[in-house]
Amino acid sequence: MKFVTFFDAQQQEQVGVVHDDGIHALADLGFPRRDMQELIEQYTPALGADIAKKLANANGGLSVDKAKLQAPIPRPRHDIICIGQNYLAHALEGARYHAKTYVKAEHPTYFSKRVTLPVGQDGVIPAHTDATASLDYEAELAVVIGKRMSHVAPDKVFDHIFGYTIVNDISARDRQINHVQYTYAKGMDGFAPMGPWIVTEDEFRRPPHLRVASRVNGEDRQDGNTNDLIFDIPYLLAELTVGITLEPGDILITGTPAGVGMGFHPPKFLKPGDRVECEVEGIGVLRNTVQ
Ligand code: MG
Repeated sequence: MKFVTFFDAQQQEQVGVVHDDGIHALADLGFPRRDMQELIEQYTPALGADIAKKLANANGGLSVDKAKLQAPIPRPRHDIICIGQNYLAHALEGARYHAKTYVKAEHPTYFSKRVTLPVGQDGVIPAHTDATASLDYEAELAVVIGKRMSHVAPDKVFDHIFGYTIVNDISARDRQINHVQYTYAKGMDGFAPMGPWIVTEDEFRRPPHLRVASRVNGEDRQDGNTNDLIFDIPYLLAELTVGITLEPGDILITGTPAGVGMGFHPPKFLKPGDRVECEVEGIGVLRNTVQ
């Protein structure tokens, strides 16, 4: 199932489900939820089956193209947990840009990214031209945690995942280099476009093998596959949950393939007016404009 956060005709935020005929608010189907966070916390396969049953007879859905979508989780309870350099080709382009020799990491690089200003489908990515001159995009598969996780073995990880969405890990490269860490460079307001919706975990194989791609103004930029993750989802979540308890609604983004702006000679950074599309197979396309 595809769950979405959208604004209804009264501009009220609603949680909905995407059906063949469009979006239906869960409240209209008889399953009111305050927000996506509450749905995730209360979700069970039985609830999913009940929603599907109601949906089978529903009609008059709101057209996906006409709906104003919000980020599916507009107010994450915690910062997004991110992985740096988790595709080999991207790690190599990063090393080239920083004029360093690539050395294969023995351990994943974790960092966190805050979501102060949610940006959903067709939302605006603020250029922050007063803070950066090297705005960059990173298409990533995002994992949404469904159940509390502590000391979870790799073979049990997928039982704890609610679903997947797309996050564009917008980055200010100059800040990333100058400040030698990511909190500022990747945590600016509007730097976590997310969506268009969350697709539940049961729709994917374990682990998911998905094409991850991006385009800027229609020009192909990234094209990778989660097959190529250096540290895969079971590895990452099993490791992190030894020490960090993950909670329903937490988001982990899994890294980005080669083809980001800093990987080109000369670099192709984002500028106001650019249209960025991030695509993940089985989820959809997240579209945003830089402003
Ligand atoms: Mg990233």
